[in-house]
Amino acid sequence: MTESIRTQPTGSGEFDELLEGLASDTTEREAITVEAPYTGETLGSVPAHTESDVIEVTERAADAQGSWAARSFEERAAVVKQYHDLVLDRQDELLDLVQRESGKSRRAAYEELLDVAITSRYYAYHGEDHLASRRRTGALPLLTKTVEHHHPVGVVGIIAPWNYPLTLAVSDAIPALLAGNSVVLKPAEETPFTALLAVSLLREAGLPEDVLQVITGYGSTIGPPLIERSDFLMFTGSTETGKTVAEQAGANLTKCSMELGGKNPLLVFDDADLGRTVEGAIRGSFTNAGQLCISLERFYVQSGVRDEFERRFVAAVEDLDLGTSLDYEPDVGSLASADQLEKVKSHVADTREKGATVLTGGEARPDVGPYFYEPTVLADVTPDMTVADEETFGPVVSLYEFESTKEAIERANDSDRGLNASVWTEDSERGHAVAERIECGTVNINEAYVAAWGSIDAPMGGMKESGLGRRHGREGILKYTEPQTVAEQRVAPLAAPPGVPEWLYTKGMTAALRAMKRIPGRR
Ligand code: NAD
Repeated sequence: MTESIRTQPTGSGEFDELLEGLASDTTEREAITVEAPYTGETLGSVPAHTESDVIEVTERAADAQGSWAARSFEERAAVVKQYHDLVLDRQDELLDLVQRESGKSRRAAYEELLDVAITSRYYAYHGEDHLASRRRTGALPLLTKTVEHHHPVGVVGIIAPWNYPLTLAVSDAIPALLAGNSVVLKPAEETPFTALLAVSLLREAGLPEDVLQVITGYGSTIGPPLIERSDFLMFTGSTETGKTVAEQAGANLTKCSMELGGKNPLLVFDDADLGRTVEGAIRGSFTNAGQLCISLERFYVQSGVRDEFERRFVAAVEDLDLGTSLDYEPDVGSLASADQLEKVKSHVADTREKGATVLTGGEARPDVGPYFYEPTVLADVTPDMTVADEETFGPVVSLYEFESTKEAIERANDSDRGLNASVWTEDSERGHAVAERIECGTVNINEAYVAAWGSIDAPMGGMKESGLGRRHGREGILKYTEPQTVAEQRVAPLAAPPGVPEWLYTKGMTAALRAMKRIPGRR
């Protein structure tokens, strides 16, 4: 493992000005200090807002929502299309900030930009069709005209994590806005500046100020009042916090969607193309230093290729470059914080104590940056070790061996989580058959995570403790609406007409029910 030449980002005057422009005044409130993980230095600070700020912001959002919803879909979409272009035009500024604030590599930062552009394009062009009112089958043929409408819910609260600070701040907001809602966004304490810049670009694209506001602060302080005052809550974060948030949303009957943690399996069958598999496995486990919800942490490899896969995978891991430069050279960046580093260190220490083998990695790299950790591959992991079933959320992978397809599926499903899985085989039929039996919201065949994540027209989210609801596709925009059914009864009532005895009406209805079962379109 080598590291690229260290080119520490030094605060240019222009960059400092950008941060100052983004942060609101911290003099009247406690300040949250934001750290640059590459160096451990302070990047800047933002105010720790309070409950009364949440009340003010959500009231402004509610006031602004009506006139935003009254605009045509095309007018709302025009803002998002303009935003798409602005994000691509201003990518250097955005990527520099994402890297400095999160410590990730440029490659991982670019994935965020890609996602924002794809989401903007998709919903700006397809959102209207998803939201359109449509005729539904009425209670009685010809006599009942039934239409389904989708109305905006009102104010959508979004609570976001630090690991993908650009995309998880705005990609869920875009469909909510296009559906006619206003949004209040609470970014993670660690990465508020990226959210502030992303939202300032949306304003530049023409979004009215109060329609999307960012409120910075601690989750435990401003999370609860935001949940209470939101008409819908979109949460992305850990399963642990997600359960607390869902409980509170439940107490208020606030509708919500939860995108939570994973412990994602990768399955390699004997017939897999090992060259492609190793390349995909590297991306699937070490992108963003493993701090990706759909990252693959459990590898199940069929016995016939177990040794060959291990040899090639470990060699590829040892070739990865760690580095801090603001360009596309380093393969792997930093962990995001001291807490993350501690968690990764403790998971690996626990496996060592309990007898696992560290095939490569296993050490922190303070020589590269304060929170760097080597990409690590473990073998001989047993169920009593923390890494066996707890999400590490770092660059740590465990290798296991399996014999039969049945065993591979059972072991992949042996988890409370069900977010993402990856299956490698040259037999497409087998790939699909296995995929359908894996209890994960997305399964990629001969890809790690991008195929399913990038299929923006299809739902994305978690089974089991990995989530509630879905983002992307039709589901990802309709969740921000209240469905309404309007049914008009024509000519005859759905009851005995005046003068018709009840026995005759029920006889007629019984005959009608029998007939409807025979007409294909009415079943
Ligand atoms: P976290 O749960 O600690 O924090 C997420 C957000 O919740 C932050 O903004 C935080 O301030 C806020 N929060 C904390 N306590 C709160 C409370 N009591 N009420 C309301 N909000 C509160 O998660 P994290 O460490 O920032 O992110 C990492 C986790 O997120 C990992 O488990 C990862 O798998 C998961 N994640 C999931 C997805 C997905 O799409 N499924 C995407 C990214 C990250």
